[in-house]
Amino acid sequence: MRVSEQEWKEALAGMYQGHIGFDIPMSEHTSLGIGGAADVFMTPDDPLSMRNLVALLGKRKMPYMTIGRGSNLLVLDGGIEGVVISVNTFSRVEVIRQAGDAVELFVEAGVPLQKLVNFCKDNGFAGMEGLTGIPGSVGGAICGNAGSYGYEIKDVVVSVAIMDAAGRLDRFKGEGLEFGYRQSGIQPTDIVLSANLKLRTDDKDAVAARTEGFFREKKAAQPISLRSAGCVFKNPDGDFAGRLIDEAGCKGMRVGDIEVSSMHANFFVNAGTGSAADYTALMEKVAMTVQQRFGITLEPEIRLAGRA
Ligand SMILES: Cc1cc2nc3c(=O)[nH]c(=O)nc-3n(C[C@H](O)[C@H](O)[C@H](O)COP(=O)(O)OP(=O)(O)OC[C@H]3O[C@@H](n4cnc5c(N)ncnc54)[C@H](O)[C@@H]3O)c2cc1C
Repeated sequence: MRVSEQEWKEALAGMYQGHIGFDIPMSEHTSLGIGGAADVFMTPDDPLSMRNLVALLGKRKMPYMTIGRGSNLLVLDGGIEGVVISVNTFSRVEVIRQAGDAVELFVEAGVPLQKLVNFCKDNGFAGMEGLTGIPGSVGGAICGNAGSYGYEIKDVVVSVAIMDAAGRLDRFKGEGLEFGYRQSGIQPTDIVLSANLKLRTDDKDAVAARTEGFFREKKAAQPISLRSAGCVFKNPDGDFAGRLIDEAGCKGMRVGDIEVSSMHANFFVNAGTGSAADYTALMEKVAMTVQQRFGITLEPEIRLAGRA
């Protein structure tokens, strides 16, 4: 049942600080620029408001999902039922411990990953260099164990603070979070609020050189200035989805305004006013072509959300 704007305001009065929006197009909150409207889009200002919000949603049995920077998300054209919670106001980064060459950072979930990479670069902290150029948030990176050039965020995670669907806040050690290739054991109703990360001090110029080197490689290999959600499919064991898609002849394949990038075949770009229906149709077409050519089933890396 749809809850009116007035009812929301009354239910949360005195319990919630932050922004509330209604019927918000998710195309405004995803790197692909695609997606129907979220019934409600909320950006709590602080953990207490987050807890009160989650408790209210639980009491009313309303569905919700958390979003970072929407750079790994395909929101379907029918939009999102219930509430989308943004953690983007949770944006602190602090050095909490430094001993010998070991450094521990406290980082909130809404911090853009690139901002964290730059913070590490500017301070000579090693461990994040290969994650440069990944456009998501720290929370999104932890949920999907973002990685590139042999670096994965799991390798620097000490612990993660997670709020569950009952509004309970707990801190979990990295080892217990079942990180795998572009995945973690973090549940869809869990909300990542912050993490403690371990890095090493190193020569500032060396960290900068590695970070900038990886960024140059990324820029040369991926269409990072175009609208995409990064890699569409996971790499199958021992191979690369991009190579398979390219060799199956799919570069330039198009449905509506969604096109297989001619620069990197595992990126689908929105060349204008593409829809989620176009995107999923292109995914099926490409996956079927690869299946027929190589007998390999590609699994999606991007996350799908919402109603078709
Ligand atoms: C040009 C480009 C290049 C990219 N290159 C890479 C790459 O090299 N390597 C790589 O791994 N990825 C890459 N990506 C994909 C994407 O940037 C990463 O997956 C990123 O970590 C997603 O973070 P996000 O904040 O945008 O997550 P979102 O897209 O907002 O969300 C992704 C998933 O995480 C969940 N989530 C997000 N934040 C939270 C939270 N705080 N609490 C609970 N759940 C949450 C969402 O519900 C959703 O299921 C690329 C994307 C683009 C557009």
